[in-house]
Amino acid sequence: MIPESDIHAAVAEKKAKRESFGDWAYVRLLHDWHGWPRGTLLAGEVVIPGYPKIGRVQTLSGILTQFHAPFWVEEKVDGYNVRIFRVGDEIYAATRGGLVCPFTTDRRADLVDPTIFSAHPDLILCGEVTGPETPYVEGTSPLVPQDIGFFLFDVIRQGGKGFFPVEERRALARSFALPEVPFYGRIDPKDLRELPAIVSRLDAQEREGVVLKEDSLRNFRAKYVTGSAELSDIASMTQRYLDVPPEYFTERVLRLALFLEDMGVTDREEWYRRLGKAFLSALRERIAAARQGRCAGSFCCRFHARENALRLLDDLGQIHGHEGETRLVSLQEEGGSWFLRFEKLYRSTTGFLRNALGGSLRFD
Ligand code: ATP
Repeated sequence: MIPESDIHAAVAEKKAKRESFGDWAYVRLLHDWHGWPRGTLLAGEVVIPGYPKIGRVQTLSGILTQFHAPFWVEEKVDGYNVRIFRVGDEIYAATRGGLVCPFTTDRRADLVDPTIFSAHPDLILCGEVTGPETPYVEGTSPLVPQDIGFFLFDVIRQGGKGFFPVEERRALARSFALPEVPFYGRIDPKDLRELPAIVSRLDAQEREGVVLKEDSLRNFRAKYVTGSAELSDIASMTQRYLDVPPEYFTERVLRLALFLEDMGVTDREEWYRRLGKAFLSALRERIAAARQGRCAGSFCCRFHARENALRLLDDLGQIHGHEGETRLVSLQEEGGSWFLRFEKLYRSTTGFLRNALGGSLRFD
């Protein structure tokens, strides 16, 4: 157990923050601290470790240098990271940053069978939530055409530092019928022939990419992303063009160019067209939106409890970079669920375009 005085000091030094959800009070780490990653939740004896960062192999040849043993190939599902866990009699879902998420917690029983926690109360189910109706991600994954879905990709124990080996996790998922990320087998880094075919199939279906997990004690992992995913990120973030750092785009264009080399694409015309479209089509929409008054992202998500929808709105107002930018559109009961509709204002994009459309002079 971490002494309360240490936690107190971490809070005082702004490395951690006190939070609560209902009756449960906890502290979440804003930075890596005492060997625990950012996003770790602490409450008395309870430690819910943060989900660690996964490095990117930027070219397939990176796999040869980085992997020392055969690895499992899993789909990288595009959504937001959650950890689902039990404390006392309650089951919570936390986001990457370590906040208990009112939306995911409200919907937890739709995502996983909660009986797993009766048999294994100390497990933490790590997975991706995706779909067209989340409060965090614009756009959707082809894997979930409506509402939301959960895909398990790792299991850890409360207070533990390592992941379950992939085969153990998959056995657990089978026993409790937990939905998992799609799985594409085991590959030896000495013979990578199969991998480009897997990646290019995913690319053709506009899916995000793969996470490779070494079948060894060090359990090394790395991600590799498709060209289509780079394009769909560009198209989606161009909706808030001036509200994201420019490196967001420059890095993705570079990664796309490396991807095309990796896949040996010789006929590039279609890719050139798609890259132009990713930027210009989204910007055309934004200009039309600015003419109407504002550039904003629209979100809709459904809840079982009205109170959780209100909690989410409250939290969105607090998230750094979103202060004052979230606007409630409606909260209505429909067919037994509460539908929350809200907008996030993209302030810089709106300001720039409105000035330009309004005829202002700019010195650049
Ligand atoms: P990071 O800090 O790890 O770079 P990020 O927010 O930049 O995180 P990504 O670049 O999308 O995220 O890559 C890592 C994330 O991919 C993980 O945090 C997890 O949410 C997600 N993910 C999707 N599928 C898998 C999978 N099969 N295994 C592990 N993580 C996965």
